Amino acid sequence: MSHLLEVKDLKVTFHTYAGEVQSVRGVSFYVDKGETLAIVGESGCGKSVTSKSIMRLIPTPPGDIKEGSQILFDGKDILKMSDKELRDLRGEDISMIFQDAMTSLNPTMKIGDQIAENLIIHRGMNKKEALDEAIKMLKLVNIPNADKRVNQYPHEFSGGMRQRAMIAMALACNPKVLIADEPTTALDVTIQAQIMDLIRELQDKLGTAVILITHDLGVVAGVATKIQVMYAGMIIERGTREELFYNSKHPYTWALLQSVPRLDTKHKNELYSIPGTPPDLLKPPVGCPFASRCAYCMEICKEEMPEVTKISETHEVQCWLQHPLAPKVEAPKFEGGAI
Ligand code: SF4
Repeated sequence: MSHLLEVKDLKVTFHTYAGEVQSVRGVSFYVDKGETLAIVGESGCGKSVTSKSIMRLIPTPPGDIKEGSQILFDGKDILKMSDKELRDLRGEDISMIFQDAMTSLNPTMKIGDQIAENLIIHRGMNKKEALDEAIKMLKLVNIPNADKRVNQYPHEFSGGMRQRAMIAMALACNPKVLIADEPTTALDVTIQAQIMDLIRELQDKLGTAVILITHDLGVVAGVATKIQVMYAGMIIERGTREELFYNSKHPYTWALLQSVPRLDTKHKNELYSIPGTPPDLLKPPVGCPFASRCAYCMEICKEEMPEVTKISETHEVQCWLQHPLAPKVEAPKFEGGAI
């Protein structure tokens, strides 16, 4: 069965003065209609490079998507599309929203005109139809007084409203896939929660598949249907939300779970940060990339890359602790369960 969007063995490098940085090292995953896939990891783990590769937004050079990588949308390889096919894909099939709405919104154009522009180009609407639709989209993302707001400029919107307007713009042409790269990082916690609720609501209404890129597992707790954890350019664990939050197997996922800020425990002011730094991807280690930071590291971890172990049909982990001869290690208890 072919999937709506499928990434196969994606490898991306960047040429620098110091040498070739291996940012994404053989990543494979898929997403289908109505699913929300969260890609979680620290900055520099390759999650944003992965999402930008899907949109063909990696500048080449210095970037280089390696031979053998495939990104299939409805069975067609995005990496082999012509400029015209790519323009249509970006306008109609896959949309992307970024951390900072100002990078997507044009400060010199009215919000309504910006939403309408895509509808005129890709859905053949006239100006009036497109502006009416823009008002509908602004209402859909809960912008009050949408009829008035449609004629305002981005600087007249608050940060949260700009983010909503960007979502309206991204969804105007009813894309099949929405990629949201750290969509709430620049916002305060209350607005963050509202934006995530909005994405979930819109997904229910429109059936859009969502790929959510974030460094914060807490953000995805209420929305993701499946989660994959990236570290040093690889997916080191993947599973459903329940599997990752309640039965995770990788020490790095445990560390990410401990880093989630919680409001309902006695340690609410103490934020756990993972000691050490990720490996240098100019020269990735031969063994497990997390070895230098892992409290459970064994000799073999430094010498050989761990195999992928299937825990269930949907849950996979790449860690030597799953080897039958490894010592049995219990996941640390996360206060109050997981999330
Ligand atoms: Fe830790 Fe070894 Fe597992 Fe890597 S393979 S996460 S070093 S226990």
